[in-house]
Amino acid sequence: AALTLSGCSTGRTTSGSGDSGSSSSSVPKGSLIGVALPAKTSQNWVLAGQDFKNSIEKAGFKADIQYADASSPVPSQQSEINSMLTKGAKVVIIGAADGSQLGTQVATAKKDGAIVIAWDRNILNTKNVDYYVAFNNFHVGELQAQALLDGLKKQKGSGPYNIELFAGSPDDANAKVFFDGAISVLQPKIDDGTLKVVSGQTDFQKVVTQGWLAQNAQKRMTDLITGNYAKGTKLDGVLSPNDTLARAILQATKSAGLPNPVVTGQDSETDSIPLIMNGTQYSTIYKDTNLEAQAAIDLVTTLSKGEKPKTVDNDKNNDNGAFIVPSIELNPVLVTKENAVEAYKNNPTLEKLATDSK
Ligand code: BGC
Repeated sequence: AALTLSGCSTGRTTSGSGDSGSSSSSVPKGSLIGVALPAKTSQNWVLAGQDFKNSIEKAGFKADIQYADASSPVPSQQSEINSMLTKGAKVVIIGAADGSQLGTQVATAKKDGAIVIAWDRNILNTKNVDYYVAFNNFHVGELQAQALLDGLKKQKGSGPYNIELFAGSPDDANAKVFFDGAISVLQPKIDDGTLKVVSGQTDFQKVVTQGWLAQNAQKRMTDLITGNYAKGTKLDGVLSPNDTLARAILQATKSAGLPNPVVTGQDSETDSIPLIMNGTQYSTIYKDTNLEAQAAIDLVTTLSKGEKPKTVDNDKNNDNGAFIVPSIELNPVLVTKENAVEAYKNNPTLEKLATDSK
């Protein structure tokens, strides 16, 4: 169905479809920039609101920042975007609540001559996205998988190792890309017997965590333990796609009385950094939210000067089902106890947290 939809858009008569925000889109200083963020499913989204407000105002624009409602994320985000456009937003920056449910809203944005920037999460099955600004999501997954392997070797001897896999929410386009990146590193080790996924659950659809919700990950981990690890089978490690879910997974293993497994994460959440420093959670990923917001606003500034931004145009992981969205890709950093203080040196809050919990 998605492909049929995007096929239709070739018949559109309005301008701007996939033309990278040039021609009709101008963004004079003082223009309104709408930022539509998803519900606060992790700390990075909480930080993003303030980061955007600061960088938009510093660049000389006006900000309208909205979060989707946790209880009805899709409809609330759809109406927030519509209302930004009604208020005359020249740019809409969107962290999608559900990447496949915004086709109508971004089509309206393009018809109104606004620039559409998918932020952190891609918007799927539409040509009406001008740019995608994000960390390299596939590389996030590769780093998580590498951390899992390193942690297992350091903490659990020479293997083979028993592991379980978790992915993020299927309505977030990032979840599959993180997982694909991780599997690209883990699959050879599963094939050669170094890693054993005891439950046998290795398909993305089987390991997803609806809504990125901690309670869903904790429940699945508890069920996995009951079904596979109750009779003394050792659980050595768990691939977790982010910190919120890592803590939920660790809660489940602790409640079941299992020894601490090697667990990965992402986001450098302030609740996880002390756990990393004391060895409970093995790793996280640092994706500086401020840098990511600034990258989007720098892009807007470039466009407002009529200049052409430098984009990555051929990364298949940024294919939204209709085309490969031109992207600004930032570099994620793997963080463990060993490099935390150094990795956070541009962020006084995180650096202090890492230092204090050493
Ligand atoms: C973000 C992650 C975050 C997750 C849950 C993803 O789209 O890239 O950083 O952990 O959403 O909020």
